Amino acid sequence: MKNVALGIDIGGTNTKFGFVDQDGYLYGETSISTVKTPPGDIDAFLKYLHEEVEILRRQINEELQIVGVGIGAPNGNYFTGTIEYAPNLTFRGIVPLVKLFKLYYNVPMVLTNDANAAAIGEMIYGGARGMKNFIMITLGTGLGSGFVANGDLIYGNDGFAGEMGHILHKPEGRTCGLGRKGCLESYVSATGIKRTIFSLLAEMTEESPLRDVSFNALTAAMITDLALKGDPIACAAFDETSRLLGQKLSDMVAIFSPEAIFLLGGLAKAGDLIFKPTKEYMEKYMFQVFRNKVKIFPSALEDKNAAVLGASALAWKELGVHVH
Ligand SMILES: [Zn+2]
Repeated sequence: MKNVALGIDIGGTNTKFGFVDQDGYLYGETSISTVKTPPGDIDAFLKYLHEEVEILRRQINEELQIVGVGIGAPNGNYFTGTIEYAPNLTFRGIVPLVKLFKLYYNVPMVLTNDANAAAIGEMIYGGARGMKNFIMITLGTGLGSGFVANGDLIYGNDGFAGEMGHILHKPEGRTCGLGRKGCLESYVSATGIKRTIFSLLAEMTEESPLRDVSFNALTAAMITDLALKGDPIACAAFDETSRLLGQKLSDMVAIFSPEAIFLLGGLAKAGDLIFKPTKEYMEKYMFQVFRNKVKIFPSALEDKNAAVLGASALAWKELGVHVH
């Protein structure tokens, strides 16, 4: 019998989970759809999640004892165990996630924002090992962020600190999942770049295979492939997205003075297409004292899932076990 923590990363599109022992060894991991069960029905989703967790547990050769659960979710509140008004999930209002999931696993359980979980994973197992000040940015359905200052994750007064995705980029601009207008994540995320493509298709006259793709069929990976082939609209979309991200990161650097910034998620998979121009724009707009000091890295846990590892590390911490 092996004691493990169940680490879960709930995203707008997919939910990933795995079993992690206190040394960070991952005993199997899988991904399920977050939108397979009826929209807004948290009970149905948690029932489905529990079934899938048990299927994975049975597939593993060793007998695993789940001694704690760590969950990262958009707008997950560490203090209350609730998901509150998550723009990219169908579950509305305030969802008492920890209370509901304890019906399945009555063990110490902890919830945090998904980007915070990824930051913890990066800090303990990834590229931020030994760093005291860094920023984790996740570019998926939305833009998530976790800020580590002086070696600690910043939760803030109410547990929601570090919501860079919902800082205002453009008053009266695009509407986000909560109906707020002009949020950064409506521009800079895997969904945001899709919206930028459609606005560029209207503004530009160049021919592009993108003109034949519907919004729902379009993916960040398709935009990446076309940009690599020199498609003018895809390239313009990456430039615009990187410029905005670089500008806002220079603002964040002025406030937090991080050693490094890590990018993770669908859009970060575009590699140089996003990293190179983002760094250039960040330096261009940077307050002089910070210029050429802050590195931008891909997550070192891209293939291992930083949020699953981070959420499990949080569970181990809750159990009083020091992980390293
Ligand atoms: Zn918003």
